[in-house]
Amino acid sequence: MSNEAKKCGMKGCLCTVPAGQKYCSNYCEAAHNSITLQCHCGHSDCASQKL
Ligand SMILES: [Zn+2]
Ligand SMILES: [Zn+2]
Repeated sequence: MSNEAKKCGMKGCLCTVPAGQKYCSNYCEAAHNSITLQCHCGHSDCASQKL
């Protein structure tokens, strides 16, 4: 289980992050404090997420 990819800590982000990382990008690290429903980190997982 320790090698499983984890989901990004930002609400609304669908990306997975490598073990040891909490966010998939600097965007998510900065945005997790703000209330955001959609992620704009630029990764394909989130880019295909159209609400
Ligand atoms: Zn994202
Ligand atoms: Zn993310």
